[in-house]
Amino acid sequence: MSAIQTQSDGVAQSGVQDQYADGKAAKNWRLYIGEQSGRTTNYKTFLVNLLKEKNCTTIMDAACGTGVDSVMLIEEMGSNPAFNLTSCDFSDKMLKDAFKTRWDRRREKPFFDWVIEEGNWLTLKKDVPVPAAGFDAIICMGNSFPNLMDEHGDYRNQKIAIKNFFDMLKPGGILIIDHRNYDYILTHGKSPNKNIYYNSSIYKVVTKTIYEDGKAKQIILDYRKKDEEDGNFLLHVQPYKLAEFTSLLKGVFGSTANHKVFGDFKELKDQPDPAFFIHMIEKPARKITMGS
Ligand code: SAH
Repeated sequence: MSAIQTQSDGVAQSGVQDQYADGKAAKNWRLYIGEQSGRTTNYKTFLVNLLKEKNCTTIMDAACGTGVDSVMLIEEMGSNPAFNLTSCDFSDKMLKDAFKTRWDRRREKPFFDWVIEEGNWLTLKKDVPVPAAGFDAIICMGNSFPNLMDEHGDYRNQKIAIKNFFDMLKPGGILIIDHRNYDYILTHGKSPNKNIYYNSSIYKVVTKTIYEDGKAKQIILDYRKKDEEDGNFLLHVQPYKLAEFTSLLKGVFGSTANHKVFGDFKELKDQPDPAFFIHMIEKPARKITMGS
């Protein structure tokens, strides 16, 4: 074999597989999520209020996909002159839609200013420019993080990704990150019968669990389009139990970091069996030590 490499490997982003590369999910995402404006009011109010309450203006959407959350944030917060949004995703097939929206609405200033980058969570600091002070908030929504599979059985990639988010936040900045209620799925063999994000009546999502030595290794989300097989697509995801995910976050942010979990955007106590858990975790402000 020649020692001279004559061509690049031709693989997408290093290390992780882009499940969206065949374009099927991207093509059907709009149908799956229903009307973009149909993002539930609960969701919109929750996210926007939380960001405003914490005075977040410099924001990164770390899994923007086709740009649903980003567009919502621009529409809700873009009139604030300090607002500054960076959106990224590692799937160019998904990003295509976000680029198109930015172009179509470029005459609106906050859309003109919208930064969109191709970025992989594992190499994010290299892929995406970070403001000098760090971001006020990073969001990673829509069950995106579980796309990153635990291939080594020790969450090493998850820790790298979360550490990258941590490093890119300013002290006092917040990470808002969600995942489906896998505790429920693993106990009942199916998702709770509701979806806070999407209101499509065209799709039904069937869940299948793969076990290895008694431990749930992988969940397959089988998106089935009613009456038309052509629009079907599959995603596989890592099934995090709530306690596991919390400990991953705290492992990076520190055990004393301010952390709160919501169920379907409400207080957990008011929401038995939510479809999604949403974590808010704050990067501790720098400690001022004597003599420094
Ligand atoms: N937040 C959007 C997209 C959800 S789909 C919405 O709710 O509509 C999940 C997204 O995560 C996909 O666009 C996928 O490309 C992205 N993703 C998965 N693994 C990633 C990684 N390692 N780095 C960056 N983005 C990733």
